[in-house]
Amino acid sequence: MERLTNISTVREILSRHGFTFSKALGQNFLINPSVCPRMAQAAVTDDNTGVLEIGPGIGVLTNELLQRARKVVAVELDKRLIPVLDETLGEYDNLKVVNADVMELDLKRLIAEEFPGMRVVVCANLPYYITSPILMKLLEERLPIETITVMVQKEAAVRLCAAEGSRDSSAITAAVRYYADPQLLFHVSAGSFMPAPKVDSAVIQLTLREPEIKPRDERMMFRVIKAAFAQRRKTVLNSISSSMSLDKGELSGILETAGVAPTARAEKLTLTDFVRISDALTEGGYDG
Ligand code: SAM
Repeated sequence: MERLTNISTVREILSRHGFTFSKALGQNFLINPSVCPRMAQAAVTDDNTGVLEIGPGIGVLTNELLQRARKVVAVELDKRLIPVLDETLGEYDNLKVVNADVMELDLKRLIAEEFPGMRVVVCANLPYYITSPILMKLLEERLPIETITVMVQKEAAVRLCAAEGSRDSSAITAAVRYYADPQLLFHVSAGSFMPAPKVDSAVIQLTLREPEIKPRDERMMFRVIKAAFAQRRKTVLNSISSSMSLDKGELSGILETAGVAPTARAEKLTLTDFVRISDALTEGGYDG
């Protein structure tokens, strides 16, 4: 349905439904006609694919997904958009719209019920105010999904796809790398959206896999990662000791056991370093 990227058509549909954009819900709808087909193509690689979409808006990406996938379940929080989606996508019988907050949903159950026998992927133009919580929910819940193909703010894309030990890496980089291999697919200019956000965006794809290296205690590892990046300009010794209220002398010994220089900055550490620190803390009797 090409008309969903046509600005005057979109304005006409939205005004007929009395819809006004909510900044708080991160509503920037895609109007660049080349973006959604590219995203859908990257996400749906065969016709036995079930797609979980988060935030369909008026259905511009959903429309492309529906043409390629066996089934699409689109979770939209804003109930004002449900009648709009009825109008724009009513012709499809492989779509289910769920009016809910994705953060509140039992996604494991939803996937089991809605996509039996299908390979499952996530594809979405994410509401930017909750990019990280959504991604962490999708990853931490160990859902049976193969890939996550999402539009995020450019800065978030850079952080999410940063190489280990590079200046752009952050706590979310390390957390994502634990569960998946990230890849930046393409850039999208701010003018591709209505209304245009202040910053450019990018589409990234996370390919999920089993962790390559596992700590004794995952909770401890994630605490250490968060603590190390809490004051990223400080040394890991200072940042971790103040964030986790650990004695500097003892922590210094633990870092040495883990083979990590106490003077290093968090961005220089690899996932293996974080696992080692975490394991040394666990072995030293600290709780995660
Ligand atoms: N997919 C559409 C597009 O590309 O034009 C809309 C994308 S817009 C950036 C984000 C969408 O997510 C909006 O429709 C918004 O209402 C919805 N949304 C915001 N928070 C949500 C949440 N917690 N759960 C589900 N949907 C949410």
